[in-house]
Amino acid sequence: MTIGTLFIVSAPSGAGKTSLLKALVETEDRVKVSISHTTRPKRPGEVDGVDYHFLDTAAFEQMVEAGAFLEHAEVFGNFYGTSEAGIRDQLAAGNDVILEIDWQGAQQVRKRIPDTVSVFILPPTPEALRQRLGSRGQDSEAVISRRLAEAREEMSHFAEYDFIVVNDLFEQALGEVRSIITSRRLSQAIQAKRLQGRLRSLLA
Ligand code: 5GP
Repeated sequence: MTIGTLFIVSAPSGAGKTSLLKALVETEDRVKVSISHTTRPKRPGEVDGVDYHFLDTAAFEQMVEAGAFLEHAEVFGNFYGTSEAGIRDQLAAGNDVILEIDWQGAQQVRKRIPDTVSVFILPPTPEALRQRLGSRGQDSEAVISRRLAEAREEMSHFAEYDFIVVNDLFEQALGEVRSIITSRRLSQAIQAKRLQGRLRSLLA
C-alpha cells in the first residue's frame, strides 16, 4: 500500500525553485527530492549523484529503451528523465517524493499516476525574473533574452497545476509549499490509509 504522495514542482528557471526545495527537505525528513538523470553538462559546483545523475546521450537513450524512466523530455536542448525505481520504493516506504521537472514531464507523470499533487512556482514580477536570470555571471543580452523566452514558455503552462506559489518573500513561499504538503497529508485519502488501525478500533 502506498501512503506517500508524488508531488510535481515546476517553475521557470529564475523562480527560486531549487533553493525552496532544498530548504524544505532540510526540515522535513519524510520528504525526498528525486534526483533526475540529465545529459546537460555539469555546472560549476554541481555534484554527480547529488544535483543530477549526469550521463551521455547514448547512456540516456539506453535507459529510455530499457523503460527505466517514469517520464523523460528534451528541455532546451538537453535530455532529462526521472528513473522509476527509486521513486516507487520511497513512496512505498511512506515518504513523499518531489519531482522537480518541467511541464512536459509533468504531463507524462499525471497520465501515468493520476493521484499526484502539482505545484507551479512563479517569480513575483518580470523585473525580478529578469534580474535573477541575469545575475548568474556576465551574460550577454542575447543569452538573457533567450532565458526570458524559455521562462515565458514554461510559465504559459501554469494552469495545468493544482497549486500556484509566488516566490516573492522566500520564507513565505517556503511556508506555502509546506502548507500544500501538510494539507495533502491530512486529506481523507491519505489519513484513511495511515490511520487504518486507529479508525478500526475507534469504530469497533
Ligand atoms: P536545469 O538544467 O536548469 O537544472 O533544469 C532545466 C529544466 O529541466 C527545469 O525546468 C527543470 O525543472 C527541468 N528538469 C530537471 N530534471 C528533469 C526531469 O527529470 N524531467 C523533466 N521532464 N524535466 C526536468
